[in-house]
Parts: sequence; C-alpha cells; structure tokens
Amino acid sequence: MFSEYLSQFDWDETTESIHAKTAADVEAALRRPRCTVDDFMALISPAAEPYLEQMAQLSRRYTEKRFGRTVSMFIPLYLTNSCTNSCVYCGFHVANKMARTILTPEEMTREYEAIKQLGPFENLLLVTGENPVKAGVPYLAKALDLAKPLFSNLKIEVMPLETEEYRELTRHGMNGVICFQETYHRENYKIYHPRGKKSDFEWRVNGFDRMGLAGVHSIGMGVLIGLEKEWRTDLTMMARHLRYLQKHYWRTKYSVNFPRMCPAENGGFQPNCIMSDRELAQLTFAMRIFDHDVDISYSTRERANFRDHMATLGVTTMSAGSRTEPGGYACYPEALEQFEVSDPRTVEEVADALRRMGVEPVWKDWDGSFDHVKKMMAQGA
Ligand code: SF4
Repeated sequence: MFSEYLSQFDWDETTESIHAKTAADVEAALRRPRCTVDDFMALISPAAEPYLEQMAQLSRRYTEKRFGRTVSMFIPLYLTNSCTNSCVYCGFHVANKMARTILTPEEMTREYEAIKQLGPFENLLLVTGENPVKAGVPYLAKALDLAKPLFSNLKIEVMPLETEEYRELTRHGMNGVICFQETYHRENYKIYHPRGKKSDFEWRVNGFDRMGLAGVHSIGMGVLIGLEKEWRTDLTMMARHLRYLQKHYWRTKYSVNFPRMCPAENGGFQPNCIMSDRELAQLTFAMRIFDHDVDISYSTRERANFRDHMATLGVTTMSAGSRTEPGGYACYPEALEQFEVSDPRTVEEVADALRRMGVEPVWKDWDGSFDHVKKMMAQGA
C-alpha cells in the first residue's frame, strides 16, 4: 500500500532538496525525454522560474502530440452537502448549522435533464460530502443507474470506499473516481481533518490502491493548494504517488488537478500559502513535462482568461457551467456553494472561447482521441 511506500520520504528533506535545485538541474530536466520525480522537483523549484517560457513551449508540444488541440469537457453535479466530517477549510463541515440537501431519485433526474439543456455533456462527475449512512454505496448506485442512459462517462468524487464497493459501482456504470488527498503531510493532515472518517490519513491515501485493485478505469488525484506552506513538497509527494500507481495499476488512466484556495472572507480558514497564476502555470507545465499522458484538469475555480490560455499549454480537461451546490442546476439553485466559481460563463461561452484559442472542446473522451488519430493520419504520421 502507498502509505508504506510514502514512509521512506521525509518531508523536510524533500523540501530542502527542492530548494537546492539549480539552473543546471532544470536544464537537464528539460532535455530529458522522460523525467524522473527528481526532475519534476527541479521543474517546480524556484530555480525553474526563469525558464517559464521554455517550459510552456515544451508543455504545449507534449500536450498536442498526445491529445491534439482538444480539451475534454465535463460537468459536476453535487448530490448532497450532507457530511459527517469536519474539514476545517470547508463550509459543508458537520458542525456548520446549515440546510442539508440529499437529492432524491426524482431530483437527480431533474438535475440530469437540466444539465443536458446546458450543453452536450457526456462526462458527468457526481460529487457528495461524506455521509456513508444517507449517501452510501446504494445511494450512489441509484444515482449512477439513473444517469447511465443520459451520459456516456460517469465519474464520482465521494468518500473513499472499499475495493469491493468500487467494483460494485463499476457494475452500475461508474467509469472513474476522483479523490483529493488534500495534503501528504501526515501530521498536519490531522489538524485539517480533526474528526470523522476523513481524519484517517492511511484510509484515505490507500484508497487509491483500492481503486487500482478494483480495476477502476480512471483515477483522479489532487492536492489542495493552500493547506501546506510548502506546496512544492506536497506536489512532489503527489508525483511520487502518481508514479507508484502507474507502476502497480498500469491499466488505469490518471488525471491530476491543482485546486487553489483563496483567502476566506468573514474569518474563515486562511490558506497557509497563496499560489500565484505564474506558479500555477509553472506547476502545470512541470506536470506535463514530467508525464506526457496524464490528464491535467482545471475547474471553474480558476478565472476565465487564465483557463482559456492554459487550455493551449497543457490543460486537457475542464468543467464549464458548474454549480457547486446540491441541486444547483434545477432543484435548489440558491443553496450554499462548496466553493465560489471564478469562471461563471455559460457552457457555450466557454466552448466559443476555447475555439477562438484554436482548441476544440470535446464532449466524449473517445472523440478527442479519434480526432487526434485522424489528424495524425492526415499528416502521414
Ligand atoms: S471537504 Fe468534503 S469531506 Fe470535508 S467537510 Fe467538506 S464536504 Fe465534507
């Protein structure tokens, strides 16, 4: 299991090693056709900051070679904001006195139909808080059963499950699982997640092994940037995790996401670091140079203009038209959002903007690869 593998890496030593990287290390990483985790550390280090333009060009080249000029579009649906955890940075935590919604099967269907009116989405991400009693596996299975006739690719972002539970949901049409580790800093993890099942670091971090063992087709991972001051160390641990999973579960497809926290208003949780656009761009390019095949996903947490530009330079998956409250598309549009959307454009506006940037929005996964293959054949590749 990954928790044992992770034990061999010391957080402070990793941090020191990243900050000790030099221009020569960065140049060596940029020359290598296949980067190691050590190269990735060089590419996200402060020493790589002067190489941003070069990294952008390389990232663009690798992305176009693997994905063509396409971005795969998806939309999230929050099924419930009911949660038994108490993550200190989240408005849905158990102690927050607020109205809790758990969509009924009828409401799910209304939401699915409303999403279909927004755009030609085929990739749907079902999201829940963590409430195993009220929104456990039978509830998720029902949500998948109802969504299956309308969407060709179903992913879930829910509490970590047992291997057999992942298998069961696969039988109900689930094609992928997204789970954010939030942070790989074991000790601090406990501070951010003081109570509930999510406070168990091992259970969460080994959930990815359980997905792999269950043969989940697509696994998404991420670190919540803003929890740890040393975000580079957290991302290095995630890069190690990605390599570990690729080695053990090589049939699975992987995606990564780097959600950034913003300073909270009204005295909420304040991030321990604020990542600039430039740093996020550097991280995105570094990830693409490190791994040519991984999907890099940006949500509507990021601003419109920034998303449009990054879609030409390394990002391959994007949400649009998102509502981050349960039932937000049809049933309860005024409920409390989990996070504020920074790109409020309509689906059509996002798609048009991407096309103006020379990027084709793709609504089904296989359309993208098919177009890319056609393009390669036309070029005689
Ligand atoms: S981040 Fe997720 S698990 Fe934590 S309180 Fe919010 S909804 Fe619950």
